[in-house]
Amino acid sequence: MATAAAIRFFELNTGAKIPSFGFGTWQSAPGVVADAVTTAVKAGYRHIDCASAYGNEKEIGDALKKLFAESVVKREDLWITSKLWCTNHAPEDVPKALDQTLQDLQLDYLDLYLIHWPVSMKKDSVGFKPENLSQPNIPNTWKAMEGLYDSGKARAIGVSNFSSKKLGDLLEVARVPPAVNQVECHPSWQQQKFHAFCKSKGVHLTGYSPLGSPGTGFIKSDVLKNPIIIMVAEKIGKTPAQVALRWGLQMGHSVIPKSTNEARIKENLDVFDWSIPEDLFVKFTEIQQGRLIKGTAFVHETLGGYKTVEELWDGEL
Ligand code: NDP
Repeated sequence: MATAAAIRFFELNTGAKIPSFGFGTWQSAPGVVADAVTTAVKAGYRHIDCASAYGNEKEIGDALKKLFAESVVKREDLWITSKLWCTNHAPEDVPKALDQTLQDLQLDYLDLYLIHWPVSMKKDSVGFKPENLSQPNIPNTWKAMEGLYDSGKARAIGVSNFSSKKLGDLLEVARVPPAVNQVECHPSWQQQKFHAFCKSKGVHLTGYSPLGSPGTGFIKSDVLKNPIIIMVAEKIGKTPAQVALRWGLQMGHSVIPKSTNEARIKENLDVFDWSIPEDLFVKFTEIQQGRLIKGTAFVHETLGGYKTVEELWDGEL
C-alpha cells in the first residue's frame, strides 16, 4: 500500500509519467462537457480521459484550444488519453481513427491511445446490435497501434478491458508492450490479483468508474453507499467519493472520475494531502466484490468473438 500523501504520478514502461488523477468524460454530453473540462483544468486536473465513442471529442477540443489560447495550461502540461473504437480495428483504419480523434481534439499527438475493448465490430456499424460484431484480431490491430507509437502521434499505447489472459497473449506478440490497461476498478471491484499481474508485466492499471459509475442507468451501483466506505469517510471527515478515490491512489493505480458538477469536480480532486490510515485501509478487504460493467452487449452465441461474458473476461468476473 502506498501511504505517502502525494501520489501525483505513476511512471509508465515508456518512462513517461501519467498523472495519477484524471478526469472522465463518458456521458458528459455535448453542451456540458466543454464547461466540465474547463472547470476541471482550472481546478488543477492535468489528465483528461477521452474516447471517440463518447461522441464529445470535438467539444473537448474546443475547450482545450481555449484553455491553451488563454494560457491556463500548456499542451505539454496535460495528459490526454483517447481510445480506438471497436469499428476501427482493421489495421488500415487504426491510423485514420487516430487522425480523426486528433482533428476533433485539435491536437498534434496523444499522450496515450488505447484499444477500447478487445472486441471488433463491422466498420461504420452503429450501436450494439449483435450483427455488428465481428471476429477480433488483436495482434493485427496492435501492429497498427505500434505504428502510431513509432510515428509519435501516440506517445504511449495501451489497452482497455483486457483480462489477464488477453493481456498476456498480447504481450507474447507485442513489439511495443502496452503501457496501460484501463479497466473497471473501485472498492467494490478491487481486482488485486489482476492488478498484481499487470504490475508484474510492467503494465500500469488505470481504474475506470472509480466511484462505481452511480449515474449510469444500466448499472446497479452502491459503491458510494457502501457502509464501510461511509464509516471510513465519517471517521476521517471526508466524503465517500474522496475515500473511494484516495483508496485507488493508495492501491497504486490511477483514477479517472467523471463529473459535470463544479462542486463535485473540486471535491473529487481533494485527495492529495491526506491518506486513509492503515487500520481503516484494511477494512476495504471486507467489501463484497462484483464487476459492474460486464460487456454483455459484446457477446453473442454465434456472432463476433465471444460467446459468453465468461469468455470475454476469461473467467475474471
Ligand atoms: P464514475 O465512477 O467516475 O462516476 C461518475 C458518476 O458519479 C456521475 O454520475 C457523477 O455525477 C457522479 N459523481 C461524481 N463525483 C461525485 C461525488 N463527489 N459524489 C457523488 N457522485 C459523484 O463513472 P464513469 O463510469 O464515468 O467512469 C469514469 C471515467 O472512466 C469515464 O467518464 C470514462 O472516461 C472512463 N471509463 C472508461 C471505460 C472503458 O471502457 N475504458 C468504461 C467506463 C468509464 P455528476 O456528473 O452529476 O457529478
